[in-house]
Amino acid sequence: MLKQPIITVKNLVKNYGSFEAVKGISFEVYDGEIFGLLGPNGAGKTTTLEIIETLREKTSGEVTVDGFSIDQDADKIKQRIGVQLQAAGYYPNLNLSELIKLFCGLYGIDKSATEMLDKVALTDKAKAKYKDLSGGQKQRFSIATTLINNPRIIFLDEPTTGLDPQARRNLWDLIREIRDQGTTVVITTHYMDEAEELCDRVAFVDGGHIIGIDTPNSFIDQLVASGFERKKQVKLANLEDVFINLTGKEWREG
Ligand code: ATP
Repeated sequence: MLKQPIITVKNLVKNYGSFEAVKGISFEVYDGEIFGLLGPNGAGKTTTLEIIETLREKTSGEVTVDGFSIDQDADKIKQRIGVQLQAAGYYPNLNLSELIKLFCGLYGIDKSATEMLDKVALTDKAKAKYKDLSGGQKQRFSIATTLINNPRIIFLDEPTTGLDPQARRNLWDLIREIRDQGTTVVITTHYMDEAEELCDRVAFVDGGHIIGIDTPNSFIDQLVASGFERKKQVKLANLEDVFINLTGKEWREG
């Protein structure tokens, strides 16, 4: 993969009053990768994402997205990215088809609702209300809304939190498909198995600093090479494997 940066963050600082939430971080996201921001609660992940998305003011530093600066070209950046809305942003009385049409109207883009719902395997729910969807379906729908403007990059903040193992796997497949079609994906997650499985590269954020950035395999290999060993022999399967095995792997109403 060509390592062409599509997002560049340099010395980004964000203060809330006297509290320093982001303390001068620098990193790049490469075009066409799934990039994960990992770290404990309060590390500064959401703050960093929202600054890149032009939704929050930075205190200082430089951020460019697809060649545009967040200082001068926020509107151009908004046209090139897809951001998941919080659930509260969906009109409760509209069905999925109508919601997609509403988003198309907001973007000034003529797309068929069926085409967008088909991308996330929700065509059979076109007439359903958002509130009547399962957790996995809600996430898939909100990912569909991020794709309406053919974005170069989509941002997913903890998209699989609260989902069952199959629904999570379905979402991983969907996110990989989106990446394979050329869209860069920036994701936050607290699930390390998810980051290991899904992300091409990850950055660990802690206390407003980036404390490591690499591919999952490289991080793990370095740790093992340093002499680290897990205390217990790892079992050949885990309870999640049992769950998947008992309940089936097929695409369901996740
Ligand atoms: P989580 O994993 O819990 O989502 P996070 O890494 O996304 O955490 P942020 O939401 O970016 O963390 O928050 C970073 C720090 O900044 C936290 O200590 C938080 O309390 C603080 N913070 C975030 N937003 C504000 C705000 N609007 N005003 C004041 N402090 C804030």
